Amino acid sequence: MGTGRIPGPLGMRVITGCILRRGPMDPYVYFDDEFPQMTPGPTGTNKDPGAKLAESTEKNSKENEDELKLLVKVYGVVKNRKGDNAYVYWKNKKRQYRVADYVRDRNAFFGTADAYRSYRKKAHDELEADKKKLRRYIEPPPARRKSVAGWEGAQDVFYAWVRKAYEKKLGEKVDIPKLISSQMSEKLKAALKQVRLDYGKSFQAGGFNPRPMKMDGYRLGTISEHAIGTAIDIESAKNAHIQTATWNHILTFTGKSLSHTMRQSKWKSNPKELYDAINAINAEFVKKLKKAMDDTLAEAKKNAEAENSTAKQKAEYETVKKDPLKACMEKDAALKGIGAIFLKRWRNGFFALPWELVKELHEEKFLWGATFSHPDLHHFEL
Ligand SMILES: [Zn+2]
Repeated sequence: MGTGRIPGPLGMRVITGCILRRGPMDPYVYFDDEFPQMTPGPTGTNKDPGAKLAESTEKNSKENEDELKLLVKVYGVVKNRKGDNAYVYWKNKKRQYRVADYVRDRNAFFGTADAYRSYRKKAHDELEADKKKLRRYIEPPPARRKSVAGWEGAQDVFYAWVRKAYEKKLGEKVDIPKLISSQMSEKLKAALKQVRLDYGKSFQAGGFNPRPMKMDGYRLGTISEHAIGTAIDIESAKNAHIQTATWNHILTFTGKSLSHTMRQSKWKSNPKELYDAINAINAEFVKKLKKAMDDTLAEAKKNAEAENSTAKQKAEYETVKKDPLKACMEKDAALKGIGAIFLKRWRNGFFALPWELVKELHEEKFLWGATFSHPDLHHFEL
């Protein structure tokens, strides 16, 4: 029954940057690209006297420093569990590392420095076993492997963190390598099988990724719902994960309303109504955006081609022709609020799930990401 699903090693599967966000308290970041990169910017620059390396009580501080640097090189930004302290930040055009913070948090998470080292050894051995099978399922993605020598050493560390977080969440008895290579919990497998049977058509489902949660970087010590195998992303290329602010601008632009609480209650009491409401918002968004672009273009053309048109109007028309979307955004605050990235990516529609499929998922007791504070239209979880 595996129609549409592409199981297999990392890089062959469909991986999305979707992250689980439920309550309004949850910090959020939108990743189109699921791999957080190191970018110069505000990360860590706000409050960092701790940048100065505190004196480490560790015996091998050089080893720790190298570990953190390699981790960052391969995985981008890494942070503490809460996500409020990045172990790397940008200052004076250079990466700065909070080695002491990293080591302190790490040793606390694993128990002691020695406990960490033996755990990392165990992680390494599991990754190496069976012709390095497990390495294929865990980030970094293939492109990054080619570009960074020694990525396996970073993966040992990354996997040690992930593995320990799994263990803390699921208990020590769970066979973690098995869970990772099967890509789903038994419960999810069974539910999805039922959906496929009842729905009868194929659909793309993916999103399994044994990784920590993300918030502008990996929050070491946490584990994503996508790693537990209880969450699934369906047709993620055609169904958006939308930030609350963007969603609100979409509502303004379309003149519709569908609040967080409404979405939550409708999913419980009348899922078809929720589906129809989202569908209608999407349709209106596409229609109105197209009209705005057509109108803007037509108006600029009319002005430019009028008998008494000015050079400025002619130049304006050329500008609008090049980027009608930008011209629309300048005229409409809601469109401006939605932003060029979203508009370009989703102007032909941000929602494309058929009701029959959503209905089956609802019947199998999935929770739909559309009910989250940041509507995640492709996300379903048990
Ligand atoms: Zn998801």
